[in-house]
Amino acid sequence: MSTGTRRVRIGSIEIGGGNPVAVQSMCATHTRDIDPTVAQARALAAAGAGVVRIAVDSDAEAGALAEIRRQTKGAVNLSVDLQESWRLAEKVAPHVDKIRYNPGHLHHHEKDKPARDKVAFVAAAARDHGCAIRIGVNCGSVDPEVATRHPEDSVAATVESALAHCKILDGLKFDRYVVSIKDSDPRKVVEANRRFSAARPDIPIHLGVTEAGLPPGGIIKTRMAFEPLLGEGIGDTLRVSLTLPRERKPEEVAEGLKIIADVKAGRLTSKGFQLKGLNIISCPSCSRVENEEFVKLAERVVKMAQFAKDSEITIAVMGCRVNGPGETDDADLGLWCGPAHVNLKRGPEKLGAFTYTEVLGRLKTELEALVKRYSEE
Ligand code: SF4
Repeated sequence: MSTGTRRVRIGSIEIGGGNPVAVQSMCATHTRDIDPTVAQARALAAAGAGVVRIAVDSDAEAGALAEIRRQTKGAVNLSVDLQESWRLAEKVAPHVDKIRYNPGHLHHHEKDKPARDKVAFVAAAARDHGCAIRIGVNCGSVDPEVATRHPEDSVAATVESALAHCKILDGLKFDRYVVSIKDSDPRKVVEANRRFSAARPDIPIHLGVTEAGLPPGGIIKTRMAFEPLLGEGIGDTLRVSLTLPRERKPEEVAEGLKIIADVKAGRLTSKGFQLKGLNIISCPSCSRVENEEFVKLAERVVKMAQFAKDSEITIAVMGCRVNGPGETDDADLGLWCGPAHVNLKRGPEKLGAFTYTEVLGRLKTELEALVKRYSEE
């Protein structure tokens, strides 16, 4: 736990300033399906989640959120995840304890409006309804303007983006905020959070390794980042992002609690572990997943790709068309799911959309060709 950070209230809990590290998770149900979402939010809270996040992308989902709040009030601290739709902030703020926005998504709508004005809008809604804010920077969707300044250093880009948004909120005299800088590479998570913490030791930090993938590999990657950071007193709240079917989502919370307890007791299981060979990253899924086959697809990809386990190749498997195209940018082979088809790309080149049954064969062909090419280089 870090003691030097300011305290930020999120509903019934407080993080930062020496409070115990709080564990968070996210509903993978469709937000418009109120009953399953209420059940999942309650299950996550019962597993020990201090905050439960829900994605909201539309007016209809904002409407559902009001009812989800009504049914979980007093039992669950709710956070909302805004993507491009920053204007939804005023509709969701009355029903949640925290709003997460991604600086890299603010430019999608109303391109001529400065980011500062958009943040001011979100902050005003948060202030009016007593919500905290998370500035959630993600390696797969860094503000393009910032990313262009650091073509060779993605860590510098994410840290700069986070610091710039802290400055905006500071300028607005809004201090009830936390920051996350997530990457799928745990080494970059460590580096970015160390740099951010050194620059802004006052701001509470939310830790996460994004798209860590299926357990047990996803847990090891997460530990590689969390163990050193928590050991150094960096991190006030955290989320373990694992690719799991909906009904197993509470396992994310259990893993988070276990990591915190292990670090406290000096049980550092990732020490000496090195990331080498085949790297499969996959998202934890959320309400935006359009086909429940996503988790099974990720499992099938892991199994199929074992023949390439010694090759330095990255495969990314993403659950939706919202974040899929961007989050697969750095992979050698990327897949992202639509309702009936899976999109496939090799590096930046789109190879087409395939049915859920066809795509594995095509991926295997591409992977075999890559392994052959790399072994000849
Ligand atoms: Fe949700 Fe899409 Fe991100 Fe997966 S890639 S967690 S489905 S937004």
